[in-house]
Amino acid sequence: MGSPELPASRARDRARSAPQALHHEYVGDWGFRPIVPTQIGRGGRTFLVVVFWFMLVASVELWWLDTPARSIHGAGAMMTEGGRITGMVAGFLLLAQVLAMSRVRWLERWIGAHDLLTWHRELGAGLLILVLAHVVLITFGYASESGVSVFAETDSIWHTLVAMISAYIATAILVAVALLSIRKLRRRMPYELWYYLHLAGYLVLLLSYGHQFADGQELSKGGFGHWYWVCLYLFVVACLIQGRIIGPITLNLRHRLRVAQVVQESNEMVSIYIEGRRLEDLDVQAGQYFRWRFLARGCWWQAHPFSLSAAPNGRWLRLTVKSAGNHTSDLQNLRPGVRVFAEGPWGIFTAEHRRRPAAMLIAGGSGIAPIRALMEELPTGMIVLYRARSLDEIVFRDELEWLAEQRQATLRYVLGSRDDPEPRRAFSPDGMREIAPDLRRRDVYLCGPPGIVDASMAALRRLRVPRRQIHMDPFEF
Ligand SMILES: Cc1cc2nc3c(=O)[nH]c(=O)nc-3n(C[C@H](O)[C@H](O)[C@H](O)COP(=O)(O)OP(=O)(O)OC[C@H]3O[C@@H](n4cnc5c(N)ncnc54)[C@H](O)[C@@H]3O)c2cc1C
Repeated sequence: MGSPELPASRARDRARSAPQALHHEYVGDWGFRPIVPTQIGRGGRTFLVVVFWFMLVASVELWWLDTPARSIHGAGAMMTEGGRITGMVAGFLLLAQVLAMSRVRWLERWIGAHDLLTWHRELGAGLLILVLAHVVLITFGYASESGVSVFAETDSIWHTLVAMISAYIATAILVAVALLSIRKLRRRMPYELWYYLHLAGYLVLLLSYGHQFADGQELSKGGFGHWYWVCLYLFVVACLIQGRIIGPITLNLRHRLRVAQVVQESNEMVSIYIEGRRLEDLDVQAGQYFRWRFLARGCWWQAHPFSLSAAPNGRWLRLTVKSAGNHTSDLQNLRPGVRVFAEGPWGIFTAEHRRRPAAMLIAGGSGIAPIRALMEELPTGMIVLYRARSLDEIVFRDELEWLAEQRQATLRYVLGSRDDPEPRRAFSPDGMREIAPDLRRRDVYLCGPPGIVDASMAALRRLRVPRRQIHMDPFEF
């Protein structure tokens, strides 16, 4: 069996490893590390959902405490109060939105980056509706109470309330960001452009701060409501600074990552070996990913997510990149020595988050990267399905076969085009049951192109595999 070599930039490593086989290194001093399932994610998620609803109710409670009994008379007052309530809830949702994307470690570990993103999207739609409702209700409510037209009232609000310009700008940015996030529109523009425009969302937090504290009746007068809201803001901003700035800078100063070696795995895939200082202290697991910024010409201004394709071993990290567009094509020509700035690790597509002692792993395309890494950290006896059009497309063949032997795993390549009988059978409920008769007692790890993910999900649903046992790592945001 041919075997890939280790990255060999340091003389000591070169002497020790090259041309030693990769797998010899694993069974040598490192071995397979046992990963114990965690309870943190399960309890943490429930805890956060409870806290979220509690605090959402608390934001309405602030309005309640500030509104004297029997003080609401008539349609105009009702609209104004409706406007105040939607304003308070929108203010809270905005903070929850930013927190979800703060990339702070504890939150990511409890919920997972992908679910956080889903929450962020869903909350975003709610936030937009609430902000628009707030603007309309307040304007119409005030107009009705003062007995003037809506236009006259808009003019009056503009001139009398202190921070209205920032409030209108914040609303305009929010609407623009929401429009840009519509899937059809987003797909039409380069990811990086969408990402940087989306960052304008932070301005909404800044601009609405002034409006809430200057014009919000519940918050402008000092007292409990005011300080409670200040604490919420401080907490979210602290998480943001930690997750987006301090965490990544500390990681990179500590580990000083560099490209050690680039190995061609197939026509369109390369593995990039990364070395650095004190990698044994890096708290990372197989199945997780980093956002990698390669500080080379033409690449440095973009950070893209790639999963580890080998379990961490304390000496180097490996990612495997398929050429999918401009950036990933440039990475195929990366040179050893290039400095790397990494943010992460993220993801709960890990052995730690499993529910059952046995697992089935399904991979297609570049999805083999995290699946290959997980083969080292999941318990022995797993079943691995690897979908490819032909044997030539299979990457890591030697490693996979060697790992299957070491880990008493069943490895099955599902080859052929989409309409061939073998793939159709393998991803049907009957086919899956044939491959893994005990499937309902296994965790399923799924990573690949949408076709494979959808077909597998449909079969797993038909076979009634519990949703909590299915772990997905869709390579898309
Ligand atoms: C969590 C995660 C893990 C991933 N792991 C791997 C891996 O191990 N190996 C691998 O080959 N690919 C992986 N990908 C996919 C990889 O990130 C994209 O293929 C790559 O970013 C495409 O960039 P491009 O400029 O070459 O292509 P483009 O043509 O610009 O984009 C191709 C597709 O990738 C999306 N994309 C582009 N840039 C980004 C970005 N910065 N962040 C998120 N999506 C982006 C675009 O929306 C588009 O759908 C992963 C993606 C995610 C979300």
